[in-house]
Amino acid sequence: MFDVIVIGGGTIGAATAYYLSKQQIGKVALFDKGTIGGGAASWAASLLTQVRAKTDTIPLVQETYRALEALEAELGESIGAKRVGSLQIAGSKKTAASIESLAEIATQFGIANHWVDAQEVKAMVPWINEGKVLNASFMPDDVFLEAFVLANAYAKAARRNGAVLFPDTEVTEIVAENGRVTGVRTQQGFYAAPFVVDAAGAWSNLLSMPQAIPLPMAPVRSIYWITRPNPALFPSTQPMTVIPDAMAYSRPETGGLLFGIRDRESPFVHPRELPETYNGRQFIESEKHWEILLDEGKEFREFFPGFEDVEIAHCITGVSTYTPDSRFVIGPSPRLEGFYAATGCVGAGVAMSAGFGRAVSELIAGQPPFTDISAFAPTRLGDFDPFSDGFMEQCSAARANKKDGG
Ligand SMILES: Cc1cc2nc3c(=O)[nH]c(=O)nc-3n(C[C@H](O)[C@H](O)[C@H](O)COP(=O)(O)OP(=O)(O)OC[C@H]3O[C@@H](n4cnc5c(N)ncnc54)[C@H](O)[C@@H]3O)c2cc1C
Repeated sequence: MFDVIVIGGGTIGAATAYYLSKQQIGKVALFDKGTIGGGAASWAASLLTQVRAKTDTIPLVQETYRALEALEAELGESIGAKRVGSLQIAGSKKTAASIESLAEIATQFGIANHWVDAQEVKAMVPWINEGKVLNASFMPDDVFLEAFVLANAYAKAARRNGAVLFPDTEVTEIVAENGRVTGVRTQQGFYAAPFVVDAAGAWSNLLSMPQAIPLPMAPVRSIYWITRPNPALFPSTQPMTVIPDAMAYSRPETGGLLFGIRDRESPFVHPRELPETYNGRQFIESEKHWEILLDEGKEFREFFPGFEDVEIAHCITGVSTYTPDSRFVIGPSPRLEGFYAATGCVGAGVAMSAGFGRAVSELIAGQPPFTDISAFAPTRLGDFDPFSDGFMEQCSAARANKKDGG
């Protein structure tokens, strides 16, 4: 018997369990069918860029920065965030204007930022073609980290506060009676709770749809590559980059460069066709990895003139969840009392994790959320079939058009 059950131990679900465990609302349980942090978190590039054009998301990522400090203090151990800063780089007049407005937004939200010229960019990022840089804003406090470590830190802190963790325990059904959640069924039996949070990532709709709750999101593939180590070209202190004109981002990774390029056709996957575990599974045949790099990487190669001489060591593909309007899915459903969604991460669920967790825990505790989350209401698109190809194509198009980091 619990007071709240959270389904899914990714960064979002684990953060939700952590914040719930700090509220005075009783016993909290966190279920995951695999390991905590073993879903999308285990693939994430995990850039935690703070400034966003959609300003209502910034308080969510700023909450994650507060959580990093709180978790390290509570657990007495480092989460290993690397504070290398991030560079927003423009190679066209249009992007230069949007980076000017991003810099203004950063200042409004108290995010440290300053302009750097092309030579300064080159000094920080040795591989860049400084001739392509029209303007660049440097945000020195931005970090990246290992999302798996963050998910486990949230879960560990939640357990210290009394939450009960159930790894390797699949929830097979959300159980309801007379329009109200009564608990969840698992392979081990029934667990009662008046509140259930669906934070099952790519699988969220498989749990909500039997209760006739369509969540506006679908699993869509993301892809990035990692070069072989070359510390002279890719110093471990170099900042993350976001290059909208190349639909690309990068960060240092063990002496090499991790870089992502948005493929213009990001395939979607029906949640029922997702592999049981992601580990070791690629979502496309490996020869396509190189085709995508050659076909879609043209603009990135213009920013990186020595690219042809760099050896690529890895290509990583994984799924996270995208929504047709690129807004998250956070909040209750009027169809089922006690049901809350915390999903639809739009490829940013590491950066936004604490914001998701805090907002959902406040809603369940009957408090107003710390920031305006009305744009993320699960009901905002009305009725639709989240498993139809047409709907999933809209989610995939949202991913293909995404220009910011991660
Ligand atoms: C290639 C790639 C790059 C990315 N880069 C970034 C980035 O730079 N920055 C960023 O912020 N984000 C990034 N992301 C997104 C990030 O990985 C996710 O937003 C984040 O991990 C949060 O996901 P989640 O918690 O919603 O889902 P998940 O991490 O997938 O967690 C869902 C969990 O639910 C569990 N589950 C599912 N069904 C059940 C069930 N029936 N019963 C019990 N448990 C269940 C699963 O086992 C899983 O552990 C990236 C993702 C990918 C794939």
